[in-house]
Amino acid sequence: MAKLDDALHYMLDYLSEQPTISDHDHHHSDEFFAAPMDLDRLLAASYVAWTGFVSDGSEMSRRELLDNVGYNSYFHWFEKGLQRVHSFEEPISLGNWDRVSERVRTAYAADSDFHWQTLRTHGFECLILDNYYNPGSDNGHGSLFVPTFRIDKFMYGYHSDAVAPDQFIPWERYGFSGRNLEQYVELMRHTITEQHSKGKVAALKCAEAYNRPLAFFPCDPERAAAIFGTHPSAITDEDRLLFGNYIFHACCKLAAELDVPFQVHTGLAQLSGSNPLQLEPIIAAYPDTRFVLFHSGYPWIHEVGGLAHNYTNALPNLTWTATISTAAAIQALDEYIDVARSINSITWGSDCWVAEESVGALLAWKFVIAKVLAQRLQDRRLSRKAAETLADKLIFHNARNMYLS
Ligand SMILES: [Zn+2]
Repeated sequence: MAKLDDALHYMLDYLSEQPTISDHDHHHSDEFFAAPMDLDRLLAASYVAWTGFVSDGSEMSRRELLDNVGYNSYFHWFEKGLQRVHSFEEPISLGNWDRVSERVRTAYAADSDFHWQTLRTHGFECLILDNYYNPGSDNGHGSLFVPTFRIDKFMYGYHSDAVAPDQFIPWERYGFSGRNLEQYVELMRHTITEQHSKGKVAALKCAEAYNRPLAFFPCDPERAAAIFGTHPSAITDEDRLLFGNYIFHACCKLAAELDVPFQVHTGLAQLSGSNPLQLEPIIAAYPDTRFVLFHSGYPWIHEVGGLAHNYTNALPNLTWTATISTAAAIQALDEYIDVARSINSITWGSDCWVAEESVGALLAWKFVIAKVLAQRLQDRRLSRKAAETLADKLIFHNARNMYLS
């Protein structure tokens, strides 16, 4: 196509009606949405709140939010999703805030299924759900949500009193009554395998980058066995990490046995420890485990590209990236198409808690795909047919083949 703008519109039109699969989301359960919903509450449950600007309902807090973050990527795509779901076009402003809020309130009050049905009516055929406070749950909506199994909590189970994040006590929660590390790992394997046999484990997931470095070596089985049973008051930071390493390695093996991808949060958590290159020794040590490198490792998007270039089992992933930074996601996708060992390894997920933000994230992802493919159409690196095939893979087929087949 001669003009870039024509090519962009062609790709956006092509993508507009395509269904999608999100490979990672956190959607709140029905209980959350039973309380009255409004714009302030939606924003508080979105990434916009991560900026520190949260509306408390006052004009001052709303004004500050709009003034400071009304142009960033999180807000932009949240607003686009909100407009799409609640059928209005004007930007959110102080002048229309209450009116928009009333629309939100009315929609949720009229239909107790509004939160999850909205995902379906806006193109989500399936979302892989990471319910971190209840690992393995599908929120009671198995026709839409397929769980990933978040393994993080198991990494804290060195003692009956050990508490994982979210006030989660692994021994109590999983009913552990054994005596040693071997039995503990067996309980973990059994818990996950049993869920898998019910079709409820599309992947394993680890988001420990929020709590510790991604360096999962050394892994010393004898030392891990000796650490097991140490009271939380007596354990050293080093031993806690080492125990976590051992459990992480056990999960790498289990993912390969179950033939499910292992989704690992890289980048933008504890920044000093979440560079995806820290995972290289793990990726090399477990060639039969497919590691999905979440969030493009943002800000280390090129490091994910490098790993995807060198390792068949390093899968580049743009979940959340398209909403963190539209610019970075365009650059990352363009690069991953060039370097990934297989085009079929690139996936995306919206990574949200509320439907409006997921719908906005999907618009972001379609925009990113369209921008990247339009450039290739315009400079003749792609034919129309090839661009459509590639778009189909990125928006739907890759995720279906990787997680659901
Ligand atoms: Zn997430």
